[in-house]
Amino acid sequence: MTQGLFWFRRDLRLADHPALARACQSHDRLLLVYVDDDADGPFDASRAWLRLSLGKLGDDIRARGGELHLLAGDPEILIPALAVAAGATEVHISALHEPKAAARDARIAATLAGRAIAMRRAGGRLLTDAESVLTQSATPFRVFTPFHKAARPTWRHRPREAPTALACSPLPSSLEGARTTLDAPRPRWDKGFWATWTPGEAAAHARLDDLLPRLHAYPDARDVPSVEGTSRLSPHLHFGEIHPSRIFDVVQRQGGIGADKYIAELGWREFAYYVLHHWPASLHDNFNPKFDAMPWRDDPAGLEAWQRGLTGVPLVDAGMRQLWHEGWMHNRVRMVVASWLTKHMGIDWRQGAAWFMHTLVDADLASNTLGWQWVAGTGVDAAPYFRIFNPVTQSRRFDPQGAYLRRWLPELRGLGDDAIHAPWERGLRVPGYPVKPIVDLGAGRDAALARLAALAK
Ligand SMILES: Cc1cc2nc3c(=O)[nH]c(=O)nc-3n(C[C@H](O)[C@H](O)[C@H](O)COP(=O)(O)OP(=O)(O)OC[C@H]3O[C@@H](n4cnc5c(N)ncnc54)[C@H](O)[C@@H]3O)c2cc1C
Repeated sequence: MTQGLFWFRRDLRLADHPALARACQSHDRLLLVYVDDDADGPFDASRAWLRLSLGKLGDDIRARGGELHLLAGDPEILIPALAVAAGATEVHISALHEPKAAARDARIAATLAGRAIAMRRAGGRLLTDAESVLTQSATPFRVFTPFHKAARPTWRHRPREAPTALACSPLPSSLEGARTTLDAPRPRWDKGFWATWTPGEAAAHARLDDLLPRLHAYPDARDVPSVEGTSRLSPHLHFGEIHPSRIFDVVQRQGGIGADKYIAELGWREFAYYVLHHWPASLHDNFNPKFDAMPWRDDPAGLEAWQRGLTGVPLVDAGMRQLWHEGWMHNRVRMVVASWLTKHMGIDWRQGAAWFMHTLVDADLASNTLGWQWVAGTGVDAAPYFRIFNPVTQSRRFDPQGAYLRRWLPELRGLGDDAIHAPWERGLRVPGYPVKPIVDLGAGRDAALARLAALAK
């Protein structure tokens, strides 16, 4: 009888799971574990998601006769200890692509090899092999469109059914002390999330099913924050509750006007990981080093007003409040709030990115960093160069009746359809809401351009 160890990470599903399928084929019994290595960290929104997602995965495993063990500790110590104590001949994983996680996996593989245990990796979280999709001169792409053109033809879906039964082994008694439960946050600031979201594999597939009848409308509806025009699959993708190859396959087979646009958005996620793979320092450094000399403003009070949705700019404030209440923000509004922070307020993109990582249920190092650097103008593919979004123009264009603003800013509900986008323009005062924007729109734009001009000198 052979014993294997399966280590779940951000692949919290049973179907379309090459690593799990291989582990099931290779062993009579599996020890299934998830290791929480962030038990003492801040309680981020994505952790609230993780907690429920693991609960759902545990239920799905139990329904197949198995058991998922939740442990807390350092995987570099726990995984080898578990493998040895269980008598496992192999440890199975699917790949993580962030530089730190990949380096840690390599160290664990080396430790295991020293104990004659193999680490076997199959599949990952992506559709693209970053090492083989290159320009004609064999260098990495820096611009999205040619990247996508080269990458998309390489994407494949190899469907795999979820295992019908899982023969699992108990946790070795010597590791009992590592057991954990992922507790809910105190206070329960995640409560508002669950009216919108259901974590887990079944819910991820339901979201995909829900997208299909409205896929044809996606190219336009995706820009309107007051309607359900997008798929909201991002947190499911982040936790690997569904593999992007399944989404790609289903959307491509349905075809039609929205399919290409939707697949291009999946391409942005691929590009984010691709950039991280080839330029790992872009996680914290400006992709374009020219911006290292940017005189960012130190403005803790301004940053807090932005975080709380009290900048006095309705579209920015609505977005920041949606983020706090739902753990998610519409993509167009993400661009607007990020532009406002980095351009009009002159605050370093890294401060905004850190707040997003704390508050988003889909917080994802690769996509978040790419998004912030793209908007700040410091990243790859920053075209048009140094775009400064006008939040009032954006608001009037994409939320003309103010439906999104009214939903998230109850204090402005009584304002008319035009006044609501910029109450200060008509001298309107609304109790509890700033009288005017924290930064004048024109002056903020001029200051951003002046900071940029200073860099060029
Ligand atoms: C400043 C900023 C920060 C961001 N931070 C994150 C983040 O932490 N995590 C995250 O998943 N996305 C992030 N995004 C990208 C994008 O906003 C979200 O992926 C999208 O809003 C998720 O909603 P959806 O699933 O309904 O998207 P849909 O429109 O349905 O798109 C389908 C999928 O494509 C991918 N996708 C779409 N747009 C992008 C994009 N611009 N970049 C990368 N992938 C994309 C996502 O996986 C998404 O689920 C960020 C964008 C910006 C501008």
